[in-house]
Amino acid sequence: MLQLPLAGAMLQRRLSRLLNLGRRLCSDASVPELQLHNAVTSVPEWARVPLEDLHGRRHDYVRISLTERCNLRCQYCMPAEGAPLSARDKLLTRDELTRTVRVLAAMGVRKLRLTGGEPTLRSDLHLIIEELNSIEGITSVSMTTNGLVLTRRLPTYARAGLAALNISLDSLQSERYEKMARRPGLKKVLAGIDLALQLGFPVKINVVLMKGFNDDEIMDFVEYTKDRPVEVRFIEFMPFSGNSWDDSKLVPYRTALRTILESHPELQGCTPRPNDTARVWQVPGHAGRVGFISSMTQHFCSTCNRLRITADGNLKVCLFGNAEVSLRDAIRSGADDEQLSTLVRAALRNKKPQHAGMQNLAHMENRPMVLIGG
Ligand code: SAM
Ligand code: SF4
Repeated sequence: MLQLPLAGAMLQRRLSRLLNLGRRLCSDASVPELQLHNAVTSVPEWARVPLEDLHGRRHDYVRISLTERCNLRCQYCMPAEGAPLSARDKLLTRDELTRTVRVLAAMGVRKLRLTGGEPTLRSDLHLIIEELNSIEGITSVSMTTNGLVLTRRLPTYARAGLAALNISLDSLQSERYEKMARRPGLKKVLAGIDLALQLGFPVKINVVLMKGFNDDEIMDFVEYTKDRPVEVRFIEFMPFSGNSWDDSKLVPYRTALRTILESHPELQGCTPRPNDTARVWQVPGHAGRVGFISSMTQHFCSTCNRLRITADGNLKVCLFGNAEVSLRDAIRSGADDEQLSTLVRAALRNKKPQHAGMQNLAHMENRPMVLIGG
């Protein structure tokens, strides 16, 4: 892992080692040329090799954390006292972010998801959405949010070109919601979801299941899909630094599925979508669907097409890997687009075929989720 910040000379040396590694990778004749996307008119030489790792996974999707700050304190995501925040000048600026995405888009990235922390805390979010949408090759910019401010801000995001929303909601009961998020807000989130549906957004609801806490609400969430065209996704609780994870709190996806099947034996599996992290089902007659994200008990690493950029400008090739490369430092020390692309390829070369397994992950150092961007 690059320890950052680095002194200038040391950074230059590391950058140049990575660049050499990347050059070797780029000259590998076995790597097929990138298929040009319709919307991309000119692709520079350095971008013509697809963003593929050593396990044949092509990466066209980037999750971008826009801030480390949040207006909630969800128990599974960060410690009660909050997470240590980076100094302002360590965060990627909007221009640096746009440049990074332009480089990634030239290499075949098509889909972006804005996340955080809480992305709606950025007062310039509508400008970010607009700018990223205008980058050649980018086909969709969507967002994961806690939904607290959607009733006020969503029309502006819609005008800026936001494509879809994932909204986090772990309980349909006010007191419980407040206990989980360590802040109130259920009514606002529910109103935000209704507005998103009225405006025609595709909406997914993220529910982190925790045993003994909200697993008795599984059927309430299934009921919630009866009249609303949303996809409720039950997510297995994952271990990150400071979230007191242990496997007794995990609700395996098979347990949640069994609970639903007991009441709805007619539940139907939906056709899997490529690179989807969720297995999706539908109760016949319901407007919405239910999905399961089983990162712990049945991972989906073999189809992973994702990269992550943290708010402080680090590239993470795996949610559960603690290896990071600072694109921010490379940009600030004068790297050109080709050099940035080489850094990305070198990082991707180290992507493991799969994560370490839940018991090992529980003992690994990683950022708290709020500092990664889910
Ligand atoms: N603040 C936004 C939100 O809550 O939607 C975006 C950032 S949040 C880190 C992104 C997603 O990560 C949320 O849906 C949240 O439920 C999920 N998440 C955070 N910590 C998690 C954990 N330990 N296990 C599973 N999912 C987690
Ligand atoms: Fe904030 Fe989202 Fe983490 Fe909750 S899950 S603390 S809303 S970043």
